[in-house]
Formats: sequence, C-alpha cells, structure tokens
Amino acid sequence: MQMLIAPPEIISVAVVGGGRFPVRRIYCVGRNYVEHIREMKESDERDPPFFFQKPRDAIVENGGTVPYPPVTEDLQYEAELVVAIGEGGAAIAQEQAPRHIFGYGVGLDMTRRERQKECIKRGIPWEVGKAFDHSAPCSEIVPVAQCGHIASGRISLSVNGEIRQDSDVDRLIWKVPEIISNLSHQYRLMPGDLIYTGTPAGVSAVSPGDTLVAEVAGLPRLTIRIG
Ligand code: MN
Repeated sequence: MQMLIAPPEIISVAVVGGGRFPVRRIYCVGRNYVEHIREMKESDERDPPFFFQKPRDAIVENGGTVPYPPVTEDLQYEAELVVAIGEGGAAIAQEQAPRHIFGYGVGLDMTRRERQKECIKRGIPWEVGKAFDHSAPCSEIVPVAQCGHIASGRISLSVNGEIRQDSDVDRLIWKVPEIISNLSHQYRLMPGDLIYTGTPAGVSAVSPGDTLVAEVAGLPRLTIRIG
C-alpha cells in the first residue's frame, strides 16, 4: 500500500546484549512510593494504582538530551524502574505477570510540574504536564534472562553528581506483578509496551545544562543532559 505521507518512524530502545526493543505504548503509574505522595501533599496512600500514557516518540535514549520544553519554568525529573512487556495479554493474573516481562530498564518521567499541578487542580487531563516531546528518557533494556526479576534494589537519581532521589524498589506501593495485572484489566497489553512504575521522593526542578543520572541496582545507568 502506498503511504501518502511519510510514515512515522519505528521507535525503539537498545537491548543489552544486542538488538532493539520496539516501543508500542508507554504507560506510567502515578503515586507509587509513599514518600513521594507525601512530598506532593497528595492524599490516600492506599488508593488503587492509576495510569497515564506518554507518546512513544517521547523516548530519549541513554546519553541523549532533553531540550528544555516550552510552557514550563518547573521541569522536574522522576527516576523510575521501567518494565518492558514481551508477551501481550488482557486480565493477567498477578502470578502470571512475570512471564509477560521481556526485561527491565531505567526511565525518567520528565514532568512540567506546575502544569501538572494546574491539571490536578482544575480536574483536567495531565497531558500538558506529562506527555510532552522528549518526556520519556529510557536506558537500554536488560532481558530478564540476564537480570532476573527486579523486586528490590537501590533506585537513585543525581543532578550534576549530587544525589537527589535515593530509595529502594522494594518500597513500591504497587509491586510490578500487581501493576501488570491491574493495567491489563484496563487495556490489553502488547509486546513493546513499556511501564514506568512510579518515582520515590526527592523530585525537584532542573535547568538547562544539568546532567541527570538515574540508577536502579543491576541495570544500566541512564545519563541525560538538559538542553
Ligand atoms: Mn512518574
């Protein structure tokens, strides 16, 4: 079939050990570490998980630059464990969830914070705060065969060498199998989906020229520069 305009490029991220992981959708979990909920002064810590999406072409690969985006003066990072889905499914039981995972990576859920807060206040969708261009940096994906399933381990983020976020993946309120199960009851998961699992406390604003390094124990270090 002849495409009448140039088709969008296939978005993918590198896989440790070779090859690439094509990205279909990017789901993100909101409010998934207690200390971050508290620093955002948001309420009930036991609320069920909720999800928002970013466009797949918001991916920025490791070593890349996030241009300082328009319509914000409060660009913030959120370091997150990323789950890469290798096998699709709907209404997945928690016990079955691990077999749907291709691998894990480290991501940044970049946020226009004052825009997001405005959306929360006005009860309107979060897109302008969360789903902007270059808002989803992601490291190389490590296949489960290499890294195993990640349920604990240090998660941290530094800005220009100074640690700002420092927690442990075992402090996730909703664990990875629960996230996959819950999300797959709302949407059919497909190979190529990425799930950003939420951020610990310590979020703050960054400026052009800053270097962000996000780490999860056992995964590649994600280094991003703010342009
Ligand atoms: Mn987040």
